Amino acid sequence: ESNKPRWRRVLLKVSGEALAGDQAQNIDPKITMAIAREVAAVTRLGIEVALVVGGGNIFRGASWAGSSGLDRSSADYIGMLATVMNAIFLQATMESIGIPTRVQTAFRMSEVAEPYIRRRAIRHLEKGRVVIFAAGTGNPFFTTDTAASLRCAEINAEVVLKATNVDGVFDDDPKRNPQARLLDTVTYQDVITKDLSVMDLTAVTLCQENNIPVVVFNLNKPGNIEKAIKGERVGTLIGA
Ligand code: UDP
Repeated sequence: ESNKPRWRRVLLKVSGEALAGDQAQNIDPKITMAIAREVAAVTRLGIEVALVVGGGNIFRGASWAGSSGLDRSSADYIGMLATVMNAIFLQATMESIGIPTRVQTAFRMSEVAEPYIRRRAIRHLEKGRVVIFAAGTGNPFFTTDTAASLRCAEINAEVVLKATNVDGVFDDDPKRNPQARLLDTVTYQDVITKDLSVMDLTAVTLCQENNIPVVVFNLNKPGNIEKAIKGERVGTLIGA
């Protein structure tokens, strides 16, 4: 039974920054293609994949509001629109290699994508389509990590897989402390109280309350997305 995938339905969170790679442009098409290929491989195994995509490669509301005096809600709406751009880019990439994909937005943009309808999203997944949730939660003052936790709970996905530019959760900031160790597992409580800054607290708390495990892993290592989706050991597992 060891070859049997661990998860049946997953929520893959891809941050905007991860899409940018080291390119000067906002999106590196090599990265979106790598994501598409790995997602294609697991959907062929029958695993249902929903995505939440971030927007930090294009616009981050909080930092603009802070530095420019732009009001926070307006800035956050721009941030949410940024996630829609990433979502459409990813959708087009997935469909270019034959993965049927639907984008659902948290606020209406009906010429561009479907509105978020929970039951419809689930139906798409059951039919083997990938669903990309865009525009975050639709509310300012939230993040796409929180959108990932929320959508995961709503569609009864079993796990949030958070694809990032780091290997997982460390016991200290690896940029400042070269001795920082990568953790195999960590509890929600430690993430919250030790402020391990892998995910914002709203997102972690939502997962904790709903017993949703979170796997934090590095998207830049080939094969990692496929491994994470199949439930193989990769990165750090956040749990109870
Ligand atoms: N955002 C928001 N509400 C949400 C999700 C996102 O207002 O529910 C805005 C917020 O301004 C955020 C931006 O969209 O900075 C981009 O999302 P995020 O920073 O979460 O993207 P990531 O860090 O994953 O690239």
